Amino acid sequence: MTERLDPLASRPPAFEMEAARHILLHSFGLEASLARLAGERDQNFRVDATGGRRLLFKISNPADARHVVEMQTAALRHIERVDPSLPVMRALPSTAGEFWVEIPGPDGRTYPVRLFTFLPGRVTEATALTIPAIWSFGQITARLGRALRGFFHPAADYEILWDVTHALKLRPLLTHLSDAARKAQVKRVLDRFEDRVAPVLPGLRAQVIHADMSLDNVLFDDDLRVSGIVDFGDMTHAPLVCDLAVAIADVLHGRGDAIEAAEAMIGGYVSVTPLEDEEAAVLADLVAARLATEVTVIAWRRGLYPDNAAYSASGAPAARAFLDSIEAMGTDTVTRRFREACRGLPYRPSATLGLLERRRRALPRSPLFYSRPVHLVRGEGVWLFDPDDRRYLDCYNNVPVVGHSHLRVVRAVAEQQRLLATHSRYLHEAIVELAERLKATLPAELDAVLVVNSGSEANDLAWRIARAATGRAGAVVTAHAYHGLTEATHALSPEDWASGERPAHVATVPAPDGYRGAYRREEDGWAERYAAHIDDAARALGDRGLAAIYVDPACTAEGVLSPPPAYLREAARRVRALGGLLVADEVQAGHGRSGTHLWSSHASGIEPDMVVMGKPMGNGFPVAALVVRSQLLGAVPEQTELFSTFGGNPVACAAALAVLAVIEDEGLVTNAAEVGSYLRQGLLKLADCHALIGDVRGEGLLLGVELVDERATRAPAAGRARRVTEAMRERGILLGVTGPAGNVLKIRPPLVFQREHADLLLQTLDDVLAAARP
Ligand code: PMP
Repeated sequence: MTERLDPLASRPPAFEMEAARHILLHSFGLEASLARLAGERDQNFRVDATGGRRLLFKISNPADARHVVEMQTAALRHIERVDPSLPVMRALPSTAGEFWVEIPGPDGRTYPVRLFTFLPGRVTEATALTIPAIWSFGQITARLGRALRGFFHPAADYEILWDVTHALKLRPLLTHLSDAARKAQVKRVLDRFEDRVAPVLPGLRAQVIHADMSLDNVLFDDDLRVSGIVDFGDMTHAPLVCDLAVAIADVLHGRGDAIEAAEAMIGGYVSVTPLEDEEAAVLADLVAARLATEVTVIAWRRGLYPDNAAYSASGAPAARAFLDSIEAMGTDTVTRRFREACRGLPYRPSATLGLLERRRRALPRSPLFYSRPVHLVRGEGVWLFDPDDRRYLDCYNNVPVVGHSHLRVVRAVAEQQRLLATHSRYLHEAIVELAERLKATLPAELDAVLVVNSGSEANDLAWRIARAATGRAGAVVTAHAYHGLTEATHALSPEDWASGERPAHVATVPAPDGYRGAYRREEDGWAERYAAHIDDAARALGDRGLAAIYVDPACTAEGVLSPPPAYLREAARRVRALGGLLVADEVQAGHGRSGTHLWSSHASGIEPDMVVMGKPMGNGFPVAALVVRSQLLGAVPEQTELFSTFGGNPVACAAALAVLAVIEDEGLVTNAAEVGSYLRQGLLKLADCHALIGDVRGEGLLLGVELVDERATRAPAAGRARRVTEAMRERGILLGVTGPAGNVLKIRPPLVFQREHADLLLQTLDDVLAAARP
């Protein structure tokens, strides 16, 4: 093997601009102005010569020995002969007729210097590349490999750390990874590499390859076609498939859809050069090894050259995220998908990717869950299905409270839609029946119903009524509450406030967090002590006075706190004493989810002044309601018509009535209690084996699992919580995260959830938490 210093371990050239100009003039006879370009281990300058001619002037790292520089130059000349339309640089001769010149540097080292044609185009972000652009990137990578197929040079046999085939040499560098979980992950990648890749590498077809088809080394034109491949500094004799692996890892690592995009890139590659089975089988592992190399070498180099850290660390977070998504999906699954893509079916953007791109363009502010959004086409009971009929266990959605696509609700909606769908200013049975049925589930005082279209709208209306009825203008909410998106309810939703946003008429109280808050569950009277903050908050409202306090009885957005009944009781007592109104926002916790009553506030024995219900009310059909004491309603001026066009339309009411009937007929409140308690026990058992779980809480089928980096300090494990939900998604289980620190897993499935579903959730969570261990 050719002896060669590792250029990564060698300080890059640092010629002054004037010195560089001088070299250019003397060696290439060119008088021109220079501009610095980026370079990791070489120094690059753009040359603006007379007549508008642009060239690239490169001062190479002295660690790049003579024969290596000679090889790169010869390779460029070879490519020019084999595939002249490939956009690579052409080497230009010096005044002495050589394609490279050696220059002594001020530090006594010898620097190889070359002049090339300048390629047009610009570097691009991974996220800017469209799927067709990625496909053609794969294609050009394959063309480059083909053009180099007949090329040979003895200097190609050298070792460089970036060469993915030498991944196992990274082991001694793992000490530079300070994050224990990351180190364990890189070790897992290397272990797999040792088991599965290293033994087959010697049998793969090999040749001189580019080995660094990354976004730093490729230029694009305005149509996102590759207009230049600019760096041949990592060329080496290696398995051909490594070029593709590097391209996938380095080009796609900034994308949420990296795995799908990789399938497109593979499609482009195999349209030129089909992969052999053995190559396809190791591709995913090679990609993971390349990402692991990047993560490790960057950590190491940051230590070596702190000055250059900003440049060298730029790709690290993206590489880590890609590595996480490969692990979350499972390297075997990624391998299977890559093998499929290698079959080289004519490229057709998948329905999911096409839809994602269209959605991002048309609805830029519309949030999507997961780094690989889930594309759904239908639901049934507790299951959701994607276009390939892969099913996901829905452990998150409370809207389909009686199960996705429940036939009784579907029929009620369809039949009513066929019969009559008008607004509610005509006499119709359904709205009256719905109002009567809702009233029957609540204390007699709550005797007036308003049917609207969303939780926000119901809370908004509650605010108007509270202000009119009390003549006051201030509100109190818990510190991370969510009550809606309208102007009035956004003001009541600190969870969604922008930084620094704090409406003057709203005061917050700490949420009753008995795990990490100021008062802990172990102390007597802790819940009441939280409620006592209402007095301070009301005082803070000053002359505005307290019109209403809004509470989600389960404190879901606060991290599914599920405070004990004493909290609501004491809160209600204090609000009354202050002359304010209590609005129970049952949008999340209501409709039987708590497992004891239809409305979660009932368990505490309080009688709110208003009850808001929404999300689950129509099992997906938009309908919400506000139930209020009619006496309060009387304060709203008569001429103000409390009416919304779609609110309480016959179809919405038919849906809401069907939902109430199903909850009752199928005993779903009892089911929520039974399966919820079973699931809770299972989660507590998981907490015995996984230190990541700090707390398990909740009632019925509304449960929170708080993840902590360390039990002693209770440091919130927000990053790991997100990764856990991503990994669960890859394994077909949908969960959410919530809470002020984003570290609480939110489990809130349709109420038809059974023990077998709980078992699947628990088993999968057990596996994922084990993998998330440092
Ligand atoms: N209140 C609570 C407690 C909620 O969780 C939500 C919705 N997440 C709302 C109100 C607002 O409901 P909608 O999105 O239907 O407007």
